[in-house]
Amino acid sequence: MIEIKDLHKYFGKNEVLKGLDIQIKRGEVVVMIGPSGSGKSTFLRTMNLLETPTKGDVYFEGTNIADKSVDVFKHREKMGMVFQQFNLFPNMTVLDNLTLAPMTTGKLSKEEAVEVAIELLAKVGLSEKADAYPQSLSGGQQQRVAIARALAMNPDVMLFDEPTSALDPEMVGDVLNVMQDLAKDGMTMVIVTHEMGFAKEVADRVIFMADGKIVESGTPNELFDHPKEPRTQEFLAQVL
Ligand code: ADP
Ligand code: MG
Repeated sequence: MIEIKDLHKYFGKNEVLKGLDIQIKRGEVVVMIGPSGSGKSTFLRTMNLLETPTKGDVYFEGTNIADKSVDVFKHREKMGMVFQQFNLFPNMTVLDNLTLAPMTTGKLSKEEAVEVAIELLAKVGLSEKADAYPQSLSGGQQQRVAIARALAMNPDVMLFDEPTSALDPEMVGDVLNVMQDLAKDGMTMVIVTHEMGFAKEVADRVIFMADGKIVESGTPNELFDHPKEPRTQEFLAQVL
């Protein structure tokens, strides 16, 4: 579904991504871990062209979306993204947050968008919050709304950038459960997280990134229990 080839990203003279090659199959759950500043967020943002790659190709469902002649917006609709800070529209109800993009892109009629939104709110356990405003919700609830909002566009892949890092500990489980359900439903997912327990349980593949490069990748068992590279071993010793 996704094939990234020799991806480089500079900010000024600072090379943040130093030639990444990654392939992601439909239905695969890929977890990315690595120290702060290693380029994980930049990788996700470059993958859906929120940042322009300095060099390299990003094939998404057969199209190189890094190609300047491609309509990025059309393809990005198929990539849902969830951020650490939930980024909900504060002046809109939960329901309106969910229906806005499907309606403004012309993807769904109002009736259809509302129907989808209600279904998705049930899926994330927030049916009773349709008419609430984001600020009246807990962080965990807001993040589940943000996930539902991304799903409302019926994406083919979901990208998560540290979705639980801004949450109080007691909220983390609810959000991870929603993500686990999505994985079980067969959603293709790329997840940057520090939740190693979740990664072990849900990931098909774990990628360890440091200093703008992929140091090592493998199954959770390979990477967590038998890391080969000293850099990986060092990182895991700090976080596990
Ligand atoms: P991570 O998510 O792994 O913590 P980031 O991708 O956020 O890492 O950052 C990697 C590096 O890129 C950092 O040195 C950061 O300062 C730099 N960086 C990220 N975004 C920008 C930007 N918009 N402009 C300049 N530098 C940036
Ligand atoms: Mg980050």
